[in-house]
Amino acid sequence: MNGKILIVEDEEKLARFIEMELQHEGYEAGKAPDGRTGLSMALDGGFDLVLLDIMLPELSGVEVLRRLRKQSDIPVILLTARDTVMDKVTGLDGGADDYITKPFAIEELLARIRASLRKKQSTAAPGGDVLRAGRLLLDSARHTVFMDDTQLELTKREFDLLAMLMENQGIVLTRDRLLEQVWGYDYQGETNAVDVYIRFLRSKIDDAFGVKYIYTVRGVGYTLKNED
Ligand code: CA
Repeated sequence: MNGKILIVEDEEKLARFIEMELQHEGYEAGKAPDGRTGLSMALDGGFDLVLLDIMLPELSGVEVLRRLRKQSDIPVILLTARDTVMDKVTGLDGGADDYITKPFAIEELLARIRASLRKKQSTAAPGGDVLRAGRLLLDSARHTVFMDDTQLELTKREFDLLAMLMENQGIVLTRDRLLEQVWGYDYQGETNAVDVYIRFLRSKIDDAFGVKYIYTVRGVGYTLKNED
């Protein structure tokens, strides 16, 4: 068994098609026809990944994701019919691991699923490391970040990006490396995603606390340094 995947999709034909393809690939699949059912099935556990449509009855995909992320870090791939940058940023910032725009080729969806599941395995925290950089403290087991005594509110993606920078303090990480490590090898979205998320982190860390931790190395990438 490759894993158990929940399909939250109100278009019955599309849901059935994905279900059949997943089963053909050796996955177990479950279906939910609306957001409310999808949320409770995802929270009940037993699934390894959620495919989440955005336009859903009862609860929208974005709202399902928001509520799900309060209790679970199960990988979520958004299925979106609207191919706008705004939706992607909202979805990814809301804690989705990836998105795919409808209509999509099933091979592409399968590749995204494999990448998300691989990434989940490779990032499964062994014990729980605590990373420090100056006044910053990141606890991967508790999924918390503190600046001194103040807890930062970071999205999943911001957290993963910061963890990567803190693990490699003083080392310049290229955009490609950050994309691969934080977004996944098969990521095919906007290449400026790294710059966008670095901006988010700077506003929550450097700007908010009057420090300078995150440096741009022009033409190369980014590094986190603590020169206190
Ligand atoms: Ca829909």
